[in-house]
Amino acid sequence: MRFISTRGKSGKVSSAEAIIKGLADDGGLFVPEYFPKVFEKLKEKISISYEELAFEIIKEFFDDIPEDDLKDAINKAYKGRFEILEKGAFLELYHGPTSAFKDAALLFLPQIMKKAKKVLAINDEIIILTATSGDTGKAALEGFHDVEGFKCVVYYPKDGVSAIQQRQMNTQVGDNVKVIAIEGNFDDAQRGVKNIFADEALKEKLKNDGILLSSANSINIGRLVPQIVYYFYGYFKLVNKQKIRLGEKINVVVPTGNFGNILAAYYSKKMGLPIDRFICASNENNVLSDFFKTGTYDKRRKLLLTDSPSMDILVSSNLERLIFEAVHRDGEKVSNLMKQLNDNGLYDLDESSKEFISEFYGNYATKEEVFNDISRLYHEEKYLMDTHTAVAHTVLRKYKKESKDYKSSLIISTASPYKFPRSICSALGIEVENYNDFQVLDILNSYTKIPIPKNLRNLDSQPILHRAVCQKEDMKKELLSFLYER
Ligand SMILES: *Cc1c(COP(=O)(O)O)cnc(C)c1O
Repeated sequence: MRFISTRGKSGKVSSAEAIIKGLADDGGLFVPEYFPKVFEKLKEKISISYEELAFEIIKEFFDDIPEDDLKDAINKAYKGRFEILEKGAFLELYHGPTSAFKDAALLFLPQIMKKAKKVLAINDEIIILTATSGDTGKAALEGFHDVEGFKCVVYYPKDGVSAIQQRQMNTQVGDNVKVIAIEGNFDDAQRGVKNIFADEALKEKLKNDGILLSSANSINIGRLVPQIVYYFYGYFKLVNKQKIRLGEKINVVVPTGNFGNILAAYYSKKMGLPIDRFICASNENNVLSDFFKTGTYDKRRKLLLTDSPSMDILVSSNLERLIFEAVHRDGEKVSNLMKQLNDNGLYDLDESSKEFISEFYGNYATKEEVFNDISRLYHEEKYLMDTHTAVAHTVLRKYKKESKDYKSSLIISTASPYKFPRSICSALGIEVENYNDFQVLDILNSYTKIPIPKNLRNLDSQPILHRAVCQKEDMKKELLSFLYER
């Protein structure tokens, strides 16, 4: 399998190359040349383990990585470190080392990158640059710390992540990691990283010093492909539990930010998984919700800081991959649309592309709706959702009401409620104003009796190792000082 760019101006590359490069040379995202139809084959073995399923799916895409290396990468990533639970309609993807679903992809990425380096005989050190709105940063640090041949640099918006997320990141151990707060929002951080990647002179200089830049953001195909696995896994769980028949179509509901998670669902469908509609749930930053209603992507609005910070995004990078399909893989059309977005802040799809994306339904949930929903589900069913998952749950309710489509659905549950304990306490009406976030964890725990995940217990007693703060213009300077001034 080869990978092509969404902008159509750079040649086909192997999976190892696509994984190492992150972004294509023409600024586009790598996409698979075709979608392997694996559902027919996999439906014969719906009880296989997560690791085995991952192998069956990932080997279709990354076929230039030797199979033993691929198995090794999968086992190192997931065995004993990551687990998926299915609770009613919820597929809980947050039982990993950072208590958010990004572990599913970011435990795997460093392992597959190591193998890709081997395939390409690359001896350079690889620097992973990541812009995060909260959860990616910690998951990347957790995946890459102390992995030989890599360094990991994470930029996050200083006031755009929760106290717990911030503490998770700035207590990160490892000689090869750096965490930097930006005076700006997530889009500033993401733009800064994109600018560094586009800086040819810088890349040239680094190359001469044996350093390559790469990314752990969800634009990396090495992150996207492992996310396909849990859609198959979740579907098979529903079949095994006799909630659906094998072959029956379901809807998936995804709390969406950068559009990686829901895009993996779309790729699963292209591979034969019986999914009917993709329900794309946004918070009050409802750019995507408007987009799926109107066919116009308009980022010209103020970014709001919400209680679901990992979804506080105006430009969802991975949407470009869906647009690529919607314009029938015409790279020039994608380039034009992305140029319009960059120059004018918006673009319009033509009628046939609008028709194409009608498998997607977009809507959003307000803070009040989310809080009510968290409280109601907890009090009625004793099920506690985090604020991101609750956005999806609320939007599903709106969808059913509007469409009268009551098909079985899978709600992708992306974080432990303990990652956002203050918001959850507010939702449940627990008074926590005079307590810090770490005390709030314990208060929520004594109220619900739901165990606190291991990695979040005792977070406040660990030493803070990262205190750097920089202006958004100085991201490159900070990077260079980390690489050269130590
Ligand atoms: C990253 C994240 C999301 C959004 O996922 P995308 O793949 O960026 O759309 C939703 N919820 C949580 C908890 C996250 O960390």
